[in-house]
Amino acid sequence: MRYSKAFVPTLKEVPADAKVDSHVFMIRGGYIRQVAAGVYNFLPLGWRVIQRIETIVREEMDRAGAQEILMPAAIPAELWQETGRWQKYGPELLRFKDRHGADYCFGPTHEEVVVDLVRRELKSYRELPTNLYQIQGKFRDERRPRAGLMRGREFIMKDAYSFDVDAESAAKSYDSMYAAYKRIFARCGLDFRPVEADTGSIGGAKSHEFQVLAESGEDNIVACDTCEYAANVEQAAIRAASEPGIQGGGELSKVSTPGKKTIADVAAFMKIAPSSLIKSLVYMADDKAIMVLLRGDRSLNEIALKKLTGATELFPAREGQLQKATGGPVGFVGPVGVDMPVYADMELKGASGAVVGANSMDTHLSGVDLARDVKVTEYVSLRQAEPGEPCARCEGHYVSYKGIEVGHVFSLGTVYSQPMNCSFLDENGKSQIAVMGCYGIGITRIAAAAIEQNHDKGGIIWPMSIAPYEVTVLPLQTNDEEVVRAANELYESLLDQGVAVLLDDRDERPGAKFKDADLIGVPLRIAIGKRSLGEGTLELKWRRESESSNIPAQGAAQAIAKLVADEKARLRGAGA
Ligand code: ATP
Ligand code: MG
Repeated sequence: MRYSKAFVPTLKEVPADAKVDSHVFMIRGGYIRQVAAGVYNFLPLGWRVIQRIETIVREEMDRAGAQEILMPAAIPAELWQETGRWQKYGPELLRFKDRHGADYCFGPTHEEVVVDLVRRELKSYRELPTNLYQIQGKFRDERRPRAGLMRGREFIMKDAYSFDVDAESAAKSYDSMYAAYKRIFARCGLDFRPVEADTGSIGGAKSHEFQVLAESGEDNIVACDTCEYAANVEQAAIRAASEPGIQGGGELSKVSTPGKKTIADVAAFMKIAPSSLIKSLVYMADDKAIMVLLRGDRSLNEIALKKLTGATELFPAREGQLQKATGGPVGFVGPVGVDMPVYADMELKGASGAVVGANSMDTHLSGVDLARDVKVTEYVSLRQAEPGEPCARCEGHYVSYKGIEVGHVFSLGTVYSQPMNCSFLDENGKSQIAVMGCYGIGITRIAAAAIEQNHDKGGIIWPMSIAPYEVTVLPLQTNDEEVVRAANELYESLLDQGVAVLLDDRDERPGAKFKDADLIGVPLRIAIGKRSLGEGTLELKWRRESESSNIPAQGAAQAIAKLVADEKARLRGAGA
């Protein structure tokens, strides 16, 4: 591509609403433009990146024996009613009516559609296993679209669905997708880690997320410092405590705590550790108030609470709801005498001598014995694993990371095939239900995650495999015939060699060209200047390195093409 003809509207200013680096650079670099919250246009550079990611995904899915199809975005409600998800999925599902008043949704995921497709065709065990995938725009009406492509409302996903004769064969399909995912993310140049995960609204038995390690990630991961175990904190196993989390004893008594609303404030005021307090959280589970009790220094695992309550919508109670449910003002809520289900974290079983809110202004209760003073509905594991705590599997300890989930593999069992009756005849002519797996990759999110891991102050540093262009050629004096001719020749030869090349033929100062090249993030930069050309050399610089080097102008195209190929081969090797 010739830059002078390209639609690459770069910006000097940081856009006001962009807080995360990948979002900033995709806007500034002319990759994307917002259309509505979480909905974007992909400009030529952005679309090239997406297409390159898609190519890698297609190659590895095809290699693993999956076949590409395309399902519709508009899905009739009947299919979603068959599995009960029409009711269960909640407001993330964008619903609409056609001209006849029939209900539809814009597909956020396609289990129902693919099961319907397969059940109509599948007859015999001989047709299995089969794995069908698509790459398609999905819509999820996310509560908080965020950080550009990281969490969009309309985004591109690769979703695959496997069908097997039994659980054993399904496990093989799962493993083959797991291996394909490792190759895909390595080829995309990502530093990632597969972790055990919650199965969420998709349902099913076993699942792994592929997490790109990045500070800006939304997901909290714990990994053992000794064994292989790594999991999303939503899912991380917690080793059962041998002793109750709080042991104090004593009488139930009121303590005046004027203005002390937080765990930290109360602990400091009473000169006790936060771990001697019990945190009382009120949640609205489908409009019904419930209370959760945790040790003061712990965090709630909302996913565990969602599973426990089976609620479609689960939110922390707002001030008014809280007051109505407990009578207590914010900051002084507690479990003694309340009239609602109270779920206490496992760690609090047998807790005594604890401090809780008293449901009245500026007052707490001390000496609380849960068994004696509180009507606990159930003790369940409701907290998140913390860094430093013992691993549930071995003698090691947890370390925490932040991650961006770029892929997710689920073993589904018959969660969808059973209610939708997706069956086949086995060797004995007996009807059996197909055993399924489903496998998602956030194509557009990969682009954002790659930038989070690969950038500096000046802009993006694309991995070679997914860069919009692999090489950029910069003629530094556009009024010098020799320079222009050499740049054009190199450009043409690189195209001949199959290299994706951007020729910056704009009539701009070298400084401006260098700045844009850095911002856009093309991995290899070749500058052609009057002086060095006179000496028979070109200046080569890797975007990721600070120093440049000179290469002979003679045979430059072949040498550069080889560098590009070697770099892609290196990434391929990392995933093998
Ligand atoms: P999250 O926990 O981030 O909401 P999810 O569990 O809802 O993700 P899946 O249903 O497993 O996601 O979807 C498969 C993949 O699609 C995810 O691994 C992620 O990479 C991508 N994805 C999901 N939601 C979004 C979104 N709103 N924007 C961009 N990519 C997304
Ligand atoms: Mg989600």
